[in-house]
Amino acid sequence: MKFIVDAMLGKLAKWLRILGHDSELISPDLMDEEILSMDFNGRVFLTRDKELAKRVSKRRINYLLVPERQEEALALLSLKLGLRLRIDPRTTRCPFCNSPMSPVSKIILNNLPREVIKSNNIFLRCNKCGNVYWFATHYWQMLRMLLKARSIKVKMSLGP
Ligand SMILES: [Zn+2]
Repeated sequence: MKFIVDAMLGKLAKWLRILGHDSELISPDLMDEEILSMDFNGRVFLTRDKELAKRVSKRRINYLLVPERQEEALALLSLKLGLRLRIDPRTTRCPFCNSPMSPVSKIILNNLPREVIKSNNIFLRCNKCGNVYWFATHYWQMLRMLLKARSIKVKMSLGP
């Protein structure tokens, strides 16, 4: 799924990339008028700005108004658009620059601390910016967050 994400939702854009979705972030310098005249290329527009969402909907652009809390936003996206709340190392994208990543061999990662190399098996490198990622403590925190999002999704689907 492809998204274009309002500037105020930088964290959400990172999450969507981690979940494997191509997510462009709108520059904070753009005015609403400029956003409205953009080519969305079939991407779903995500925002928290109700006024802007109303104007976007008049242009028949797919959009979703997302809640402020990260886990609620992810739950809603999962409920409405079928987004899977799991991290797949084969499809995850660079949270920093939105590019696809490729697995990289431990052998060439000689600039990482030895402990990191020893205690991890999967390393991914961004095809564009070259950042290297692995599944350590931060990853477990992300999984906890996704668990929370899943339980919120269940509550949402049952309605108020
Ligand atoms: Zn990158």
